[in-house]
Amino acid sequence: MTLLSCTACGRTLQGRDLFCSFCGTTTPASRLECEKHFGERAIGVCSVCGRPVCGDCVVTVEKVLYCNDADHRTMRESWTVIFTTRSEFEADAVYRNLEYAGIKARVFTMREHVAVFWFDEFAIVRVLVRQDDRERALSILSELQLIHDSEDE
Ligand SMILES: [Zn+2]
Ligand SMILES: [Zn+2]
Ligand SMILES: [Zn+2]
Repeated sequence: MTLLSCTACGRTLQGRDLFCSFCGTTTPASRLECEKHFGERAIGVCSVCGRPVCGDCVVTVEKVLYCNDADHRTMRESWTVIFTTRSEFEADAVYRNLEYAGIKARVFTMREHVAVFWFDEFAIVRVLVRQDDRERALSILSELQLIHDSEDE
């Protein structure tokens, strides 16, 4: 497998990745299109919800890309990605276990964006918790033996 690095943040990507899971920048070979502007190349995907965005739609804060939902930008400050998967089923299991432990979590799946339809195998699902709950949530996940696939590493 070829190793590429993100043209924006330099993190290592897997050979077949369409975008950097950290900052959201699409790879040069990516054919993802903007969710709002049909036919317009997506320069990235929102680092929270995964919505594909073109140069007109993108909001960049400290080199990390977002859609124009202000909520997603502010979430980056107080929330953290605790779990990344390609399976809604797995994400839901994580969500329910965290909820059971009294930890508020939010799940974002790229599959809710129409523009991702043809790239289904690359769609990721993220589970986020508040920074304050991070340690507790991580220990719950490791008790459940769910592989911690954090994007922060
Ligand atoms: Zn990047
Ligand atoms: Zn978003
Ligand atoms: Zn656009």
